[in-house]
Amino acid sequence: MVGFQMLSIAILIELISALSVLSSHAQSYAITHVSVIPMDRERILADQTVLIQDGIISWLGPAAKATIPKESVLVDGAGKYVLPGLMDMHMHFFYEQGLDKKFLRDEASLMLSKGITTTRIMCGDPEYLKLKEQINNLLIPGPELFVVSPQLVGKWTFSIKLFGNVADTPSEGASLVKRFKEEGYDEIKLTFYLKPEVYDAIIATAAELNIKVTGHVGPAIKLSRALAARQQIEHLDEFIETLLPDTTYNHGISVSGTGIWQKNTAWKTIPFMDESRIPMLVKQVRKAGIFVTPTNYFLITCFAKGQTDEEIKTSPDYAYIPSFLKADREKGRNRFWQNPPPESDRKRYIDLRFKMTKALYDGGIKLMAGSDGPEWYLAQGFSLHNELEMFVRAGLSPFAALETATINPARYLGIDKRTGTIQVGKEADLLLLERNPLEDIRNTTAIKGIFNEKVWYDEKTVKRMEEAAKVIGLQ
Ligand SMILES: [Zn+2]
Repeated sequence: MVGFQMLSIAILIELISALSVLSSHAQSYAITHVSVIPMDRERILADQTVLIQDGIISWLGPAAKATIPKESVLVDGAGKYVLPGLMDMHMHFFYEQGLDKKFLRDEASLMLSKGITTTRIMCGDPEYLKLKEQINNLLIPGPELFVVSPQLVGKWTFSIKLFGNVADTPSEGASLVKRFKEEGYDEIKLTFYLKPEVYDAIIATAAELNIKVTGHVGPAIKLSRALAARQQIEHLDEFIETLLPDTTYNHGISVSGTGIWQKNTAWKTIPFMDESRIPMLVKQVRKAGIFVTPTNYFLITCFAKGQTDEEIKTSPDYAYIPSFLKADREKGRNRFWQNPPPESDRKRYIDLRFKMTKALYDGGIKLMAGSDGPEWYLAQGFSLHNELEMFVRAGLSPFAALETATINPARYLGIDKRTGTIQVGKEADLLLLERNPLEDIRNTTAIKGIFNEKVWYDEKTVKRMEEAAKVIGLQ
């Protein structure tokens, strides 16, 4: 056992500051004279005070009418905007890509430092369930985690190590669903190469056990089967293929999923896409009643728009890409970009993704922001703000874009009774901004403070967390 006298001064100081964070949990807070964007509908409540007691919004109203408990910690909200904490509905950890598990806490605090108070982790691992527990118990700072299961994949002809479990028969599929439900995962995650009969067994077992199924739709499954199963579909997988006038243009390789790499086959279908078929697609998706996570920023930036070396190296994400992954990233990028699809096709791909996104929104389908960070040169956190911008570029209002990262995910996750909007009685998952995000969506990056899990992180602390997480990039 290590005696107290053995501890260095530095560790003692750390210990004391950690304890002061813990003791601050029970404190009450008052954010004064702030503009509130409650996100229940498009409105701004000017000059409000928000009282927080033990992590719950206990009072909200005109600042002039507020009775602030005298022990409250005051947060000056004058000239600032408060909105619900953001939710990134499609994220991963660098851990999957080989980063040591001791950095999971840094990854979590990076997410939080960018205003993400809730996130859905799209590839399961027991380590994430442990991390979730630690965050829930206020042992480390981070967003509330919803963790999908380890990935279910079909048998593939190539001997490549996939981060997942092979389900080659219906009974294998069914027993994996049972196991992952028992282990405490929130949803079942599917990737590629599942046979239709295995897929059906997974869907049936998941329905029995009342657990959602989410992920990719491979070309063997097809959109119609996934929609009939009410699977939650990521990346608009297989959506774009429905725009082909007939299947003769598509030789079984779609530009969705891993097909995005197929420049000589999948990409060649793009000129034949018929956008007059979008309304039919929207109708089918609406009938299925699913939510949709387009992950437009990731796919457009990495495969259609592209980034120059300069853009990559000056992006804030870059400092967080572990050194040991950089060569690999570069190889992948070169593989695609040394001989990219024609610019006209890439522009059309972007245009169609935006048009589908806008049409889905107009058709009443609930969209959700998901960044897919840390793919390619995206780190966690930063890319969610980029994804919000994509919704606005697709034609949504900034308010509608913010819905995709607040109330919509809260409804999807079934936590809208306790978070997702700013309302008395709800959890104080809050983001304080310097500028109005309804005027310009990019203002979501102007973070002045974050409230999460009973703890207030002021601007200095937020910056410190963001800086400290750069240790990830040094690995
Ligand atoms: Zn993903």
